[in-house]
Amino acid sequence: MGSSLQSTQVTLNPYAELPEVIQPIVKAWKGCQDCSLGQGVCNYVFYRGSAPCDVLFIGEAPGYDEDMCGLPFVGKSGTILESWIQLVKDEGLKFTYGVTNVVACIPKAINEETGKKTVRAPSKEEADACKLRLLTTITRASPRLICVVGKTAKKYLRIPARGMEKEYNTPVLELQHPAYVLRKGGRNSLEYKRNFLYLKEAIENL
Ligand code: SF4
Repeated sequence: MGSSLQSTQVTLNPYAELPEVIQPIVKAWKGCQDCSLGQGVCNYVFYRGSAPCDVLFIGEAPGYDEDMCGLPFVGKSGTILESWIQLVKDEGLKFTYGVTNVVACIPKAINEETGKKTVRAPSKEEADACKLRLLTTITRASPRLICVVGKTAKKYLRIPARGMEKEYNTPVLELQHPAYVLRKGGRNSLEYKRNFLYLKEAIENL
């Protein structure tokens, strides 16, 4: 079964509960400095949920909540993602799932207008630097369905190029990013319902 959403908190060892097949990834990439994102993170954010799993969600990058926790999709966006998953399960569909991102480290930035800290999209170089970690994660999670969450993940994973589907013999579904859905009105929006229906249909066809 997939994991429940974690509360936002500083976790002493966010990786202790991760599945055994993910532990070598923690060992290999914790402390990684293969790109500049590794400087100044609170936590590397590798994975959350079951592995192996039926469905693997791949988002863009950790945000501040995730950086604090060391677990992906635990903030407001994570709540939306979890609600889609729960709605599908409420339809009687049983599946396990895991969650990861294109990059494992938060891409921090300063908003030029407000001077406040913010999170930007990862660059192509950063996504490339983290690709081996992501591909190793996909291999170890061996999902039956890959759900690419949001435009940035889609761009860096070169969806809809069929490379991933061929390489992993795994169907790939694109979902809009929960942050976008929140901007469109969250649970009351058409986007919210549409993404849930896409997910449900894809899981029904597994
Ligand atoms: S984002 Fe990936 S490649 Fe860059 S430092 Fe973090 S783990 Fe290493």
